[in-house]
Amino acid sequence: MAKKVQHARAANDAGLSVVVIGAGISGILLGIKLRERGIHDFVILEKGATLGGTWRDNMYPGAACDVAAHSYVYSFAPNPAWKSRYAKAPDIWRYYNDCARRYGVLPHIRYGQEVVSADFRDDRWEVRTADGGVFVADVVIAACGRLHHPMMPEITGRDRFAGPSFHTSRWDRSLDLRGKRLGVIGTGSTATQIVAALAGEVGGLSLFQRTPQWVFPVADTPIPWWKRLAYRFLPGHASRYYYQLQRETETRGRAATGDRDARAARDRQCTDALATVRDPELRARLTPDYEVGCKRLVMSGTFYEAVQKPGVQVVTDAIDHITENGIVTRDGTLHEVDVLAYATGFDAHAYLRPMRITGEDGITLDQVWRDLPLAYRSIAIPHMPNLFLVNGPYSPGGSASVVGIVEAQVDYILKLLDRIEQADVAIVPREDAARAWLDDVREQARGSVWGTGGCQSWYLDKTGTPSIDPTPLSELVTQLATVNLADYRERPRAPVRLGAAA
Ligand code: NAP
Repeated sequence: MAKKVQHARAANDAGLSVVVIGAGISGILLGIKLRERGIHDFVILEKGATLGGTWRDNMYPGAACDVAAHSYVYSFAPNPAWKSRYAKAPDIWRYYNDCARRYGVLPHIRYGQEVVSADFRDDRWEVRTADGGVFVADVVIAACGRLHHPMMPEITGRDRFAGPSFHTSRWDRSLDLRGKRLGVIGTGSTATQIVAALAGEVGGLSLFQRTPQWVFPVADTPIPWWKRLAYRFLPGHASRYYYQLQRETETRGRAATGDRDARAARDRQCTDALATVRDPELRARLTPDYEVGCKRLVMSGTFYEAVQKPGVQVVTDAIDHITENGIVTRDGTLHEVDVLAYATGFDAHAYLRPMRITGEDGITLDQVWRDLPLAYRSIAIPHMPNLFLVNGPYSPGGSASVVGIVEAQVDYILKLLDRIEQADVAIVPREDAARAWLDDVREQARGSVWGTGGCQSWYLDKTGTPSIDPTPLSELVTQLATVNLADYRERPRAPVRLGAAA
């Protein structure tokens, strides 16, 4: 029996009621847009104690966003205050927290509410939380993020390590690393930021590399005061810069799908950056054997310099096991460390799981997703009426800031909400339309460098096909500008039955 029943819809309000899951960039954006649309009967259920999603969790040393700060914002809320081209994690967190406050989203957020299940009954969703709460609403929108379940590797002896050890998204910030020997497992964007920040600052740093990464050089140039003033006071200046950055990112991103000029320019920059590693033996160990851009590019102007600093070693012998005081590699060497950080990435394919979702006629998400995570346009799931996803399966990437992508998706969801409200229906994508869309996207993705470049990465789904839609943002915006109702089924909604969940 549920401990409490809460209706997202107020009894005297005829509008839609909505449960949003997650208070990260997408959930906050949904809050802003729902309010703008006149929908006030919504709650944002957040399992953490604060908002911010990825920018709350990833507070490791050096955490920053390698997408230009002025384009890593909501298009309608420029931030003239960024002090350099790339923003640090705490500043990004502050920006999104500030947006939530300024746009009136904070009162809608319920913290410590981990959603465990959602059931579609009597044309309404019943959303249950781990503490026994039940929220009833017309619509559920999952904004849970894609890189949010930390992956810990199966390495023998992991539990035996005597010192502090943690996944990078759970970094113990109370830890004083001065004089300590730090081991970092992994060489993705996270590990490289940590190494760039801590090389020379700790008692020793061992980077355990299984696969080398291509590194695209970027310079974190400061933004002078007069430019900041211009962004603040000259109308349209910051916004023009936002769209200029978007165009630049999109042009570079086209390298993934075969634009030869973009590809040649990108590859040359990466090989030139690698050539700055002075020791040929180290350079050889840092040289990938797959195509540039196959894995998500590491963007750093300081990583190669950092690994050449005294006290830093790049360990390329495979890890065999972990002991009380370090990592033993297959050649039998014990690499002693005092602190161990797992920069081993995230399960990018969990999406809504481990929540239990049951849609129309008792059909479960696991049934619908038996083969692949099927979501029409990454947003709407067959047999799950009025349930939508932001940044869902096969969402676009690689050619835009994720913020631009989720804005386009949220705008599309709002069009669906308009239809639900105006026609008083529940709306669900046709399975054949969803499959046709997915086949098309996967076909395009297969031809991208993520599929042909000869690497392993979190981009790949369980069949080895990239789970990223290579559609550039400008085309995505056009595609999502209209809702093709022929691709949906509509079912009339039954009248609201207050108290139905008890
Ligand atoms: P990641 O790119 O998935 O990298 C994980 C690393 O851990 C890889 O080097 C992987 O090696 C290694 N690894 C995994 N299991 C291992 C094992 N058992 N033994 C040894 N090594 C192991 O993870 P991430 O660096 O956390 O980045 C994930 C994503 O987050 C990025 O791709 C990016 O999209 C995002 N991110 C963005 C920013 C930003 O500035 N915007 C910053 C950080 C992260 P293999 O390569 O051999 O699998």
